[in-house]
Amino acid sequence: MRALQLTEPGRLELREVPTPEPGPGQLLIRVGASGICHSDLHVLHLPFKVREEPLTLGHEIAGTVAALGPHVEGREIGDRGLIYLCWSCGICPECASGNENVCRAAGRTAMPPCPGLGPDGGMAEYVVVPATSFVPIGDMDFVAAAPLADAALTSYHAIRGARDQLRPGATAVVIGAGGLGHVGIQILRALSPVRVVAVDSDPGKLELAAECGAHEGLPAGDDTAARILEMTGGRGAEAVFDFVGVDATARLSVECVGPNGAYRMIGLGDGDPGITAGPAGGPGLPWGATVRKSYGGTRRDLIDSVALAREGRILARTEQFALADGARAYALLEQGRIRGRAVLVP
Ligand code: NAD
Ligand code: ZN
Ligand code: ZN
Repeated sequence: MRALQLTEPGRLELREVPTPEPGPGQLLIRVGASGICHSDLHVLHLPFKVREEPLTLGHEIAGTVAALGPHVEGREIGDRGLIYLCWSCGICPECASGNENVCRAAGRTAMPPCPGLGPDGGMAEYVVVPATSFVPIGDMDFVAAAPLADAALTSYHAIRGARDQLRPGATAVVIGAGGLGHVGIQILRALSPVRVVAVDSDPGKLELAAECGAHEGLPAGDDTAARILEMTGGRGAEAVFDFVGVDATARLSVECVGPNGAYRMIGLGDGDPGITAGPAGGPGLPWGATVRKSYGGTRRDLIDSVALAREGRILARTEQFALADGARAYALLEQGRIRGRAVLVP
């Protein structure tokens, strides 16, 4: 089969590789579509190899069950679904509580195994996955469904974790209306009555944010925090979702979140929010505000995201590329030229 693989730091190649075989408890999935996440760019640019042999990227996978490994019950060849990206142990106390995204087996700061970031991922004709990761999507289109596996899952989880702040009259700021953010805006609108303020450095992304239901759009700049304070009577926003995570957006988050507000770090740009334990004067973190570094989501969050999409309440905007054209799609994402999510179709 053909697979888009990371062979050296920064180098993507379309290669012929053997079609994998499902082992006990696994499914072979014929990939229908595989989304490109900005996290792949972070991996692409790591100065070292993620693993010794070439790695097939892709953690937003939609497809069809093509074969069942031994001891798999409850799935049939031809079933259509998404692959939940936390391949957690399933038995630890966190997994037992449904917090598979912080599975104990991953240790303190690692992530549970994720397709395309350790095990081979979905940018190929076939991929082998744990049967427990399969989440049915009914007759949903694969290209529309694939971004739910991360762009919706991760946004949904971050938003669900801030639900106490998302009350009538409240303001939620979404920083970065890219692959995750444009879906996050729709999830906020679907789940809550808040006013949504989108912030992006790209005017085109602010247009997309408006199309997705953002009430206001602000260009990222030196005065963005001041403008948000002005819009919120000087208090700041009840919730801030930073889908970029660089220094500028981390600082902005601290400067525009309100007292008892929720600041959620989702973007992985290594940004330093500059939080100190001093009295909350000036632009610092106000009293009561919480910071949460949010990773992925739970399997239930994915099931909920699929339900929202099937009801037509959220729709990932996508740009479709052939698998063979994958390197070009990555380049466009890197240049900020993808509107919504780029999705590869093998
Ligand atoms: P993307 O490239 O599709 O979107 C990024 C958006 O941010 C774009 O609209 C861009 O214009 C905007 N942007 C860039 N710099 C900005 C700035 N300084 N100020 C305001 N806007 C800015 O990326 P994506 O796929 O949506 O991923 C976003 C981030 O989330 C990445 O860092 C990715 O690695 C991370 N991520 C985290 C998790 C998690 O579990 N925490 C999961 C998936 C992705
Ligand atoms: Zn991702
Ligand atoms: Zn576990």
